[in-house]
Amino acid sequence: MTTFVHDFADGNKDQKDLLGGKGANLAEMTNLGLPVPPGFTIDTEACKAYLAEGAEPAELAGQVTERLAALEKTMGRTLGDAEDPLLVSVRSGAKFSMPGMMETVLNVGLNDRSVHGLAAASKDERFAWDSYRRLIQMFGSTVLDIDHLVFARALDDAKRARGTEADLDLDEEDLKRLVGTFQGLVTEHAGRDFPQDPREQLDLAVRAVFDSWNTERAVLYRRQERIPEDLGTAVNVQAMVFGNRGMDSGSGVAFTRDPASGAQGEYGDYLQNAQGEDVVAGIRNTVSLADMQEVAPGPHAELLRIMATLEHHYRDMCDIEFTVENDKLWMLQTRVGKRTPEAAFRIAVHMADEGLIDLDEALRRVTGAQLAQLMFPRFDEDAPRDLIAKGMNASPGAAVGKVVFDSHTAVEWAERGEDVILVRQETNPDDLHGMMVARGVLTSRGGKTSHAAVVARGMGRTCVCGAEALDVDAERKRVKVRRGPTLGEGDVISIDGSTGEVFAGEVPVADSLVVRYFEGEEADDDLVHSVRRLMEHADSRRRLHVRTNADKAGDASRARRFGAEGIGLCRTEHMFLGERRELVEHLIVAEDDAGQEAALAALLPLQRQDFEEILEAMDGLPVTIRLIDPPLHEFLPDYTELSVQVALEDERGNEDTHHHKLLDAVKRLHEQNPMLGLRGVRLGIAIPGLFTMQARAILEAAAARIAAGGDARPEIMIPLVATVRELDIVRREIAAVAEQVQQETGVDIAHKVGTMIELPRAAVTAAEIAGIAQFFSFGTNDLTQMTWGFSRDDVEASFFSTYLEHGVFPVSPFESLDTDGVGALVRMAVERGREARADLHLGICGEHGGDPHSIHFFDEVGLDYVSCSPFRVPVARLEAGRSAL
Ligand code: ADP
Ligand code: MG
Ligand code: MG
Repeated sequence: MTTFVHDFADGNKDQKDLLGGKGANLAEMTNLGLPVPPGFTIDTEACKAYLAEGAEPAELAGQVTERLAALEKTMGRTLGDAEDPLLVSVRSGAKFSMPGMMETVLNVGLNDRSVHGLAAASKDERFAWDSYRRLIQMFGSTVLDIDHLVFARALDDAKRARGTEADLDLDEEDLKRLVGTFQGLVTEHAGRDFPQDPREQLDLAVRAVFDSWNTERAVLYRRQERIPEDLGTAVNVQAMVFGNRGMDSGSGVAFTRDPASGAQGEYGDYLQNAQGEDVVAGIRNTVSLADMQEVAPGPHAELLRIMATLEHHYRDMCDIEFTVENDKLWMLQTRVGKRTPEAAFRIAVHMADEGLIDLDEALRRVTGAQLAQLMFPRFDEDAPRDLIAKGMNASPGAAVGKVVFDSHTAVEWAERGEDVILVRQETNPDDLHGMMVARGVLTSRGGKTSHAAVVARGMGRTCVCGAEALDVDAERKRVKVRRGPTLGEGDVISIDGSTGEVFAGEVPVADSLVVRYFEGEEADDDLVHSVRRLMEHADSRRRLHVRTNADKAGDASRARRFGAEGIGLCRTEHMFLGERRELVEHLIVAEDDAGQEAALAALLPLQRQDFEEILEAMDGLPVTIRLIDPPLHEFLPDYTELSVQVALEDERGNEDTHHHKLLDAVKRLHEQNPMLGLRGVRLGIAIPGLFTMQARAILEAAAARIAAGGDARPEIMIPLVATVRELDIVRREIAAVAEQVQQETGVDIAHKVGTMIELPRAAVTAAEIAGIAQFFSFGTNDLTQMTWGFSRDDVEASFFSTYLEHGVFPVSPFESLDTDGVGALVRMAVERGREARADLHLGICGEHGGDPHSIHFFDEVGLDYVSCSPFRVPVARLEAGRSAL
């Protein structure tokens, strides 16, 4: 018989698949001997079976009965007993934490009879009724699906009747009345009475947790975080401990280090006389851990001891939930804590320095995506700025946008291309969509552990929370700043998630410290030190080289400072734009060879100049230059405009102008499907002299550099080759040009001639192509288009979102390489190519060269280098290092 239910004492932290993250870590803490209220976990297999069958597996009820009996025995109390009831919490917990996504019900076991038992046993009427009203409220909204506002309004009414705004001012009589009101609301809205049978409460709550796996917001969160759909959640049933039992009780959350900055030292929030949810919801203002020392010195000291134990045990920053009941500390949750990119780098290096982990492990704990975030611009400190409020620096970044007050508007405005900042008193899971589309999130309540902060950090969204000077009135769509302006929907603000500052209007941005470090500027800054340490370690580990895609000397120089080891793709088409467009037009409309030659001759010196500059910027490093690739009509004027011009000229009687010739050319060159038309190597063959002019410009530039004492290493790359025959034609022409240039200049020019592999046919026939190509560079953008048969320019904005929703692919294949399909072609070409030519040099120059997941794949198949845009070069270096671990 399958066992679906497991005692906390029987599990450990490595069983997250089965027990969920929360259950596995509760088990781990139990076995470390920490004070964890006892309980058991209903595993993810039970959830999966329930979701598949629509009913709990037959064995489940019996197993729960058995484990519950054991728990009752341990606790010496019975669930929902009328004299001295055992109460339990029913807590969701999937493999990956999904903050606020799933449901938790506290105080299960209370009913009209046991509430008296609880009051008698605790000698505290108020506490008992407060617990009961909480149960009905949570059960009503999460299990019976009643809008939580229904209860919130009734609670507000009760407080108003008392003339107070604080929950704590409600006395036992108020709470008793409230329980009656809540029960009436349940009957009214759920069409059934609040269940009095404790076991029925438990079973319904367990089922609600199972069901919560498929709520809209859970599905949305999983898609956003790329969490698989089929994991299911576990359910933890745990004896209650009570933080709402008076001022010597309370509830809190803590991190063993600051999750925002990574600074050493414990960090947390504590709330006296409160039950769990109160802390995170930001209902009342919490005190810091330091202040907890004053109000609860004993539990505080023990908490610090336990935090040290946990950090050593997990060898990582831990995130903790705890409760104090009558001065006794209880641990309710721990996990390896989420953190900002800055904290990730700093904590990893600190822990390596402390000897907790080695540098390899430190490198594993940071990602290229985090590094990319650290390279985002910051607000310019020297610019004029109008500081209106300060909150907590919950999630870093510099965000500028228009104020919106609800998720719906955020989505609507973002869809029409506006940058928005979502401003809320506090966020809840319904705000998820708005947070996803906003540039930043600003709240007036809640600490670094509030929903807004936790979710924003998880998404890498800029967030400032708990800006208390803000009085947010979402209904009237305005926010009044204490001693400041009143802002309405659409007003622009700037928020700094690294400092917690809020500015009116738009503050200009400047380079981040990390970018300035890559640019060569030293800074006495712990983050910069941490980044440097891990970059150096990555460089010492990686096998894969990193080049850059750059068409201009300026970009090339910057990339070189960022660590690029050459250029993997220098496009030449921009060299045909601007003022040179006219020369290209002449080339296209030339009526005879002489006209064509003249046009090419005019282009030659201009190209040579471009190449000289780039070769100089990359002196001593390889520079791969791709001959012209796009269809020529891209350089011609727009058809409609041209037609109008020609019509005007006709009217004036000029019937044979340059425009007429151009219009003819536009008509002649028009293609139904330019992506599959006259481009790449086809141009080189169809228009004699075009590629050879380019090759000459490259080689003459190299000769000039070498003559001047430079070290030029050009690599000439032919695009869109499908068959070795095409490459052979062009290669011979280039060889002849090289011969001529070397004779003319008397310089021996070391250079290579190779090809892009960007058509499936080229990948399949890689062995033949490698026979004459000195290198391959995978053009994975085209290879993806050609393999899938869709054009990036047309499809990404049209049906990709539908495809993503249907799970056709988990992420756009243009963003992250489709390793099963396109990747298989790459692998095949690598194997066949290397077999034909052992020293074949291999690289990739598509967009994927800067994508972490793809980089790991390219390393694994044995490419020599990846090439990416200058700003991705550090990211690629880091990921290449991580891939080598
Ligand atoms: P989440 O996954 O949303 O954090 P939890 O299951 O951790 O949900 O429950 C939220 C809070 O409820 C906890 O942080 C804790 O304060 C409180 N809680 C859960 N179980 C218990 C319990 N057995 N006793 C006291 N408080 C509890
Ligand atoms: Mg929790
Ligand atoms: Mg291409």
